[in-house]
Amino acid sequence: MICKNCNAEISETANYCPYCGFRTTPKLEEAETKKQQNLPSAKIPGKISLLIGFLSVIISLIPINKTLIVSGIILGLLVLIFTVIESIKHKHKLSTITIIVAAIGLASNISWLLFITYVL
Ligand SMILES: [Zn+2]
Repeated sequence: MICKNCNAEISETANYCPYCGFRTTPKLEEAETKKQQNLPSAKIPGKISLLIGFLSVIISLIPINKTLIVSGIILGLLVLIFTVIESIKHKHKLSTITIIVAAIGLASNISWLLFITYVL
């Protein structure tokens, strides 16, 4: 590559220009920037799954019919599975709020389904 400071031809792997001492680590800096840019986007799926978890809870509060309750169960299950997989994949802390919300939605929807199927 070419040194940005003195335009001398230098090794691709050199961190510093041997002629003028200018720091030449663009690749490393690029990787750092990409890492930082990836951080906010990694939080978006977490927010979406939290929203879907809430949706599952809301469905369980207004159990209109079996189809809606079943979709509430599926949503709660999906959120639980997705949250666990994401936390393993990205090695970040498990989102406790999302897990709790999804678990509440899942449990109350299952209760409604059992109630509708066996009691009514
Ligand atoms: Zn140089």
